[in-house]
Amino acid sequence: MPSYYRHTKIIATLGPATDAPEMLEKLIREGVDILRLNMAHTTPEWVADTIGHIRAVSEKVDRHVAVLMDVKGPEIRTARLSENIPLELGDSLEFYIESSQPTSQGKAVSVNYPGLPEDVQIGATVLVDSGLLRMKVVRKTATSLFCEVLTSGSLGSKRHINLPGVHVNLPSLTAKDEADLEHGIGLPSGIDFVALSFVRQAEDIATLRRFLTERGSRARIIAKIEDQAGVRNMEEIVSAADGIMVARGDLGIEIAYPKLPLVQREMVASCQAQGKPVIIATHLLESMITSPMPTRAEISDVSNAIREQADAVMLSGETTTGRYPLEAVQTMKEIIESIEPSVRHPLNKRIQLHEPKAKMLRSAAVLAQELGKSGIVVFSRSGFLPYVLGALRPCGRPIFAFTDDAEIFRQLTLPWGVEPFHMPFCENPEDTILDALAYLKRGDWVEPGTWLVVITNALAHERVIDTLQLRQVE
Ligand code: PEP
Repeated sequence: MPSYYRHTKIIATLGPATDAPEMLEKLIREGVDILRLNMAHTTPEWVADTIGHIRAVSEKVDRHVAVLMDVKGPEIRTARLSENIPLELGDSLEFYIESSQPTSQGKAVSVNYPGLPEDVQIGATVLVDSGLLRMKVVRKTATSLFCEVLTSGSLGSKRHINLPGVHVNLPSLTAKDEADLEHGIGLPSGIDFVALSFVRQAEDIATLRRFLTERGSRARIIAKIEDQAGVRNMEEIVSAADGIMVARGDLGIEIAYPKLPLVQREMVASCQAQGKPVIIATHLLESMITSPMPTRAEISDVSNAIREQADAVMLSGETTTGRYPLEAVQTMKEIIESIEPSVRHPLNKRIQLHEPKAKMLRSAAVLAQELGKSGIVVFSRSGFLPYVLGALRPCGRPIFAFTDDAEIFRQLTLPWGVEPFHMPFCENPEDTILDALAYLKRGDWVEPGTWLVVITNALAHERVIDTLQLRQVE
């Protein structure tokens, strides 16, 4: 049995620092569970090559990870510039729509959203480049916004614009998102999860789900909550999505940032009540982009996510362009291994379980926790039971989830505490159990004496019934 069993999952975003097969192999061996492709910065060729490399390396090292495609959603950006525009306090900057021309002689840049002058009111705040440049709208025309610069800096190419509290009339799924998804879905073993940026309401998830279903994709949907509308409609979004990402980069700009820890806690609680996985993203180990060591504050931030029992923690810049991507993953692992054993919450008390079979899982989790050295074994074709077991958060107990479906197998990399195995199922459920136990012993996941709470089907007089069984490894 491994000396330590990690329950919190690690997601790493890929970029120039990590997309070569040798580096992917190191990340996968090191324990990354999910690899994220951020579609804001990719080409179709890169996506095809990178997914191909991920699948080949996974096969080689016999450790399979999931691919998460993160699509941009309704994002407003400034145009490409031949040189940066220097901005001083009190300067005036004109944002004009792409189909138009600047109407002033002063500093100006075009934006990719024609509705900008209509949606934004005089007096509103405009934040550019992750909030580094702050401006106030002082005048507008049908095609331009004129802003007063409130913080000096330099405006570069294609900078992201945040408009806190403004309802933007952009579609939740843009033409670029659709093209990215079509491409990803069409690749062999393409994408396992789709993260949708700036989800504002449950209907955004329904739109994406229709799009995926019509194209035969079973990718699970992760809603990125990153603005005020998303926070307001959190409950319905959690209910509609398959998981949530607390996208703290944009969220910390769109809401008053001192409230960020409270909103994070609320989102984690909402996901735990509805039994949905939750990912904490952005700036967890930001300083490791340039330093081999995290700051003390970052260590505390990661520990907080682990104590809140998030399903996964995510690395962005640390692994896309950072100088220490492998060290960042190792650091995550070390912090998780140091903190998890100290988290001894009783089972997830918030979760509402409706189906009788899901209620049976709670008994399984209680039983596993009352036995000494123990684990839970579950068999699943759809992934439903392992996802609920993960959501129950049986501290200290591994959840060994067996499935005969390669795609579900990869999707089981996300929920807290679930270790997925891909194995064909036999006609007789007892043979499937014996195969699974042999698998676990061969892989040193269990040792003689370990108690296993097994959730499976059994044949009783020709009828298939749900059972919860207790086995001890011999
Ligand atoms: C975020 O804003 O925290 C985030 C994860 O989204 P992106 O990296 O797409 O900005």
